[in-house]
Amino acid sequence: MSGIRILDARSVTKRFGGLVAVDEVDIHVDQGEVLGLIGPNGSGKTTLFNCLTRVHNIDGGSIEFKGKDITSKKPYQVARMGLARTFQVIRVYGDLTIEENLVLSQQWGALPTHRSFTKAHRDLHDKAAEIAEFLLLSKHLRTKAGTLSGGQRRLLELGMTLMPDPDLILLDEATSGINPSLIETIKDRLAVLNNKGLTLLLVEHDIRFISDLCTRVIVLNYGRKLADGTPDEIKSDERVLEAYFGDDGSTDVE
Ligand code: ADP
Ligand code: MG
Repeated sequence: MSGIRILDARSVTKRFGGLVAVDEVDIHVDQGEVLGLIGPNGSGKTTLFNCLTRVHNIDGGSIEFKGKDITSKKPYQVARMGLARTFQVIRVYGDLTIEENLVLSQQWGALPTHRSFTKAHRDLHDKAAEIAEFLLLSKHLRTKAGTLSGGQRRLLELGMTLMPDPDLILLDEATSGINPSLIETIKDRLAVLNNKGLTLLLVEHDIRFISDLCTRVIVLNYGRKLADGTPDEIKSDERVLEAYFGDDGSTDVE
């Protein structure tokens, strides 16, 4: 599948002191694709996400989003352009309700200027309710986010990225620490979103999750791109097995 290149990053490099956390990585995402990003702990996945979403300034390379150079843009600017992300550590406002969290997250998107404030306000609440329903969170709309389960909070976080109608979402370990039935829910919801045209870049530990959703997978190791291929190609790639298992081959890819 080759389409319009929605994200195109070249030779991205990020150093922390003497450590090269991301080392000249090329990564592109095509419109409509679900790309997986995997790699052992500490291989640079989250740092790369932070570079792509402009949370980190980069030490080398360039990043284009929807054909525009975003290498020097601020995180809120790329968010407004349609690039959304979640964080490895869940970030929702525990003292606020699901509805309030959703409404608040719209601030990153373009605010409506052509409508009256009241109408815009009502639209926002309608949209929050619609998204909560899509994520099977309707009955918790007025529940404080702090009382939700880890999985429900992950769903809420996904909902918060959806509020400003993004074109591309980067998800950092959306399923870690979640019970299996909610993992299936998240997988199913992501598949539906992708069918509707949303492009996804997923960092994930669960290789089955990646295999079920992604058409292409990139593997990082020590900050470098180790492999790029279909899930089947990746699973049988000797270099990938070596990176995950070392010499003894004793553990599963997770
Ligand atoms: P992953 O998400 O693949 O587990 P990370 O991107 O979190 O890996 O980390 C890559 C490397 O960069 C690790 O060695 C980590 O300790 C280091 N690192 C990440 N963030 C920072 C930071 N803010 N300051 C210093 N070192 C960091
Ligand atoms: Mg990480």
